[in-house]
Amino acid sequence: MTSNTETILVHEGQQFNQTSAVTTPIYQTSTYIADPDPMEYIKAATEPKHPYFYHRHGNPTNSQVATILAKLEKTEDALVFATGMAAISTAILAIVKSGDHIVAQHAHYSGTAIFFKEFLTDYGITVTAVDQTDISAFEKAIQANTKLIYIETPSNPNLYITDLKAIGELAKKHGIQSMVDNTFASPINQTPTDFGIDVVVHSATKYLGGHSDLTAGIVCGTRDYIARVWKRSVALGASLAPLDSWLLLRGLKTLSLRVKQINTNALKLAEFLDQHPKIKKVSYPGLANHPQHELAAQQMKGFSGMLCIDVDGKNEEEAFLNAQKLINGLHIFINAASLGGVESLIVHPASMWGRHHTKEQKEASGITLGMLRISVGIEHIDDLIADLKQALDQIN
Ligand SMILES: *Cc1c(COP(=O)(O)O)cnc(C)c1O
Repeated sequence: MTSNTETILVHEGQQFNQTSAVTTPIYQTSTYIADPDPMEYIKAATEPKHPYFYHRHGNPTNSQVATILAKLEKTEDALVFATGMAAISTAILAIVKSGDHIVAQHAHYSGTAIFFKEFLTDYGITVTAVDQTDISAFEKAIQANTKLIYIETPSNPNLYITDLKAIGELAKKHGIQSMVDNTFASPINQTPTDFGIDVVVHSATKYLGGHSDLTAGIVCGTRDYIARVWKRSVALGASLAPLDSWLLLRGLKTLSLRVKQINTNALKLAEFLDQHPKIKKVSYPGLANHPQHELAAQQMKGFSGMLCIDVDGKNEEEAFLNAQKLINGLHIFINAASLGGVESLIVHPASMWGRHHTKEQKEASGITLGMLRISVGIEHIDDLIADLKQALDQIN
């Protein structure tokens, strides 16, 4: 059909709606009436992602969502999951087995970091974490048994950038698979396969769903690879429920509109905060003062809605108290985990992840006590700036 994102978001995968309803119905069913031809039924039972056999195997709406995402990420195929973590863990388990090694980053989404540190090691899979801003560190960490380079860019929460092209080339040179968590950028702002990355994963809970009303995950890759992921997904069982899949499909229709508005809002908000005397530091890849701004501009079409600020204070303790004061003084920004929705959220990463990180890990991942992570929404920018301004005025 078309290669234009906005049209793909609205129309792609219509063939999975076999009714005359303009809007894809919710297929709220666990199972489907068998084809009277036993050969057809065998096919339905064994073919990856067959949409009309049994829900854990597939569902028409799941197929429609996967078709859209495969188009956006420029891969042959895709598979949806009940959460981002289900997508990430299953995608990794379709590549590595006992005795294998993964090269990953210091800074990862906390759930991914826990999966690497506390689960994979129990199954004989080792992981080396490196500084993602240093490409030579990735190459140095490669061993004879390395099967996967796993990256996240921009990373959660600090917005470090990993060079997609360099990782794509490095992985190819060594015959290793490369996988990227593209959640923070969304496919509107970044297409990792353009730079030679093999597999793209998303927490669809965030920008793709976009309304903070569902959890979901997506894996995009070659047809053969997605068949392997599907086989593990059938065994592990984290399939996306029919209603959530329908909500995700609905959310996707406005993905481009939302992300563009969010890109614009976030840049203006970052510029405002960067000038504010009570903010020590703003981390936003769209600002010229971001240490990796040039790299971000090379591989991103927009800079997304995630930014981190360091609230000022005489010492870490005062910065921490000021950060809490700021959060509590806001009226529009909601203090909550998660991101990528239409509403602006703010959160204190050191509290959220304090349980999981040791002091050394916090330092390596750059999470300070005065740091706040903001997910910019689609509200009017003047209201967002005014809200932060009045809350900052309350800090002395
Ligand atoms: C939220 C998030 C995840 C996990 O997704 P869930 O849907 O919560 O399981 C993974 N990676 C990143 C970057 C995230 O922000």
